Amino acid sequence: MTAYKKLEETDLQAVASFIARDRILWNQEINEEYSHDELSSEQSYPDMVVRVTSAEEVSRLMAYANQHHIAVTPRGAGTGAGRCLSRS
Ligand SMILES: Cc1cc2nc3c(=O)[nH]c(=O)nc-3n(C[C@H](O)[C@H](O)[C@H](O)COP(=O)(O)OP(=O)(O)OC[C@H]3O[C@@H](n4cnc5c(N)ncnc54)[C@H](O)[C@@H]3O)c2cc1C
Repeated sequence: MTAYKKLEETDLQAVASFIARDRILWNQEINEEYSHDELSSEQSYPDMVVRVTSAEEVSRLMAYANQHHIAVTPRGAGTGAGRCLSRS
């Protein structure tokens, strides 16, 4: 299985250079709701939650993640069946 990079403070600073810090949740800022969805009992906390508002932000975020070998899990309303959970 591919080993993805564990996120560090430097990644937070890098992402916050192109996405407003108040739309990024980091560590203790991530509440329980992001650790599960509506249909599965699985629980898994992401390292970071980024609330994007444009295709350009998605593009820059994915480019950063790809460059640094960071796993990304898209999430909508979290009402699906366990596939919007981060796999750390
Ligand atoms: C009470 C209840 C009733 C339901 N009834 C139905 C029903 O009748 N019919 C039905 O089809 N479903 C139903 N569902 C399931 C669910 O609502 C649907 O599957 C819904 O489409 C999931 O959307 P979401 O935004 O919540 O997705 P999420 O749970 O957030 O994500 C689901 C999957 O889509 C991926 N994803 C989310 N956003 C994106 C994106 N922007 N780009 C790429 N991938 C993305 C996630 O990574 C994950 O793999 C029900 C769920 C509940 C809780």
